[in-house]
Amino acid sequence: MAILVTGGAGYIGSHTVLALLQRGDDVVVLDNLCNASREAINRVEKLAGKKATFVEGDIRDRACLRDLFASNSISAVIHFAALKAVGESTRMPLEYYENNVAGTVVLLEEMRDAGVWNFIFSSSATVYGADAPVPYVETTPIGGTTSPYGTSKLMTEFVMRDFAKAEPKFKAIALRYFNPVGAHESGEIGEDPAGIPNNLLPYIAQVAIGRLEKLGVFGGDYDTPDGTCLRDYIHVVDLAEGHLKALDYLSKVEGYTAFNLGGGKGVSVLEMIKAFEKASGKAIPFEIKPRRDGDLPAFWADASLANTTLDWRVTRGIDEMMRDTWNWQSKNPDGFR
Ligand code: NAD
Ligand code: UDP
Repeated sequence: MAILVTGGAGYIGSHTVLALLQRGDDVVVLDNLCNASREAINRVEKLAGKKATFVEGDIRDRACLRDLFASNSISAVIHFAALKAVGESTRMPLEYYENNVAGTVVLLEEMRDAGVWNFIFSSSATVYGADAPVPYVETTPIGGTTSPYGTSKLMTEFVMRDFAKAEPKFKAIALRYFNPVGAHESGEIGEDPAGIPNNLLPYIAQVAIGRLEKLGVFGGDYDTPDGTCLRDYIHVVDLAEGHLKALDYLSKVEGYTAFNLGGGKGVSVLEMIKAFEKASGKAIPFEIKPRRDGDLPAFWADASLANTTLDWRVTRGIDEMMRDTWNWQSKNPDGFR
């Protein structure tokens, strides 16, 4: 039996595929490469000393899914494939709902037809919406999302919830990620954003290698200790390990359930800059800019449910996040290209 990983050539997917292969699981990767490189999987296979089956295809392509389920024995699906740029989603909402929500519905229909009932979904802290009290805890009702991207994650959780109510065989876990950063410690795989990065750490890393001149810090007047936003950054390898724990827990799940995957601590933008400078020995020039639309001042996870139920917790701190980001970026100044 193999695990199907959709979006497995992407940033979080590739780290998870590596962790699965390293513990001996068989893996089938389905990715349309709209935001990833085949090279990521080549490197994962080299690191693991084991091959994955790679299918270049789209989760919305029924014929492709049917063929994949017919020719591989799949025990569970880890579903990463999605579009993920918050700003772009406000300009292209239909593309986001079509890819992320309608695409997931097609995937679930084909899973049902193939008799595959185990499902792990990449959700996001953004499903808690703008007004949730911090730290975010799973008992807080989700909703109040502020972008089509966030709403696509919320809607997909509702699809999972409702399907699980109707189909007792369906077992589903939504993992609500906080802010994934870092890279595998080998420096062979990492985050490789197309164009100018939207996210903080890839932007900082590209300033450090000289591809970008200066970081803009979005807002210096928030009601936080140093005036900049607080986020709960989580090392991508810790996050990947969370998927393995969730996979092991699926057999005990009744229907649909959700877990926060975060470290439980808020770190400011200025603290991130300082930590990166320490790890890389590079100065990061920055300038305080106006607040970015839609940014929340501060949020972090209450991860105690994942700690106790999944027996999962973060083991890598900010120093490791920065060290591994810099190792990846300096070894691969042009990413996978
Ligand atoms: P990523 O863009 O690196 O990975 C997504 C992968 O899915 C890419 O390889 C892309 O080519 C593929 N893909 C997209 N649409 C597809 C489709 N229709 N069919 C097949 N493949 C498709 O992104 P990531 O950062 O690794 O994120 C993985 C998942 O985690 C996404 O669902 C994302 O929304 C979610 N998530 C990410 C973050 C984050 O900050 N990175 C935070 C919370 C949740
Ligand atoms: N940020 C910033 N400059 C950038 C990118 C991000 O100051 O070029 C800040 C952003 O305002 C937020 C934090 O860094 O407070 C994390 O942003 P990111 O986009 O990485 O993640 P988000 O929490 O928005 O998903």
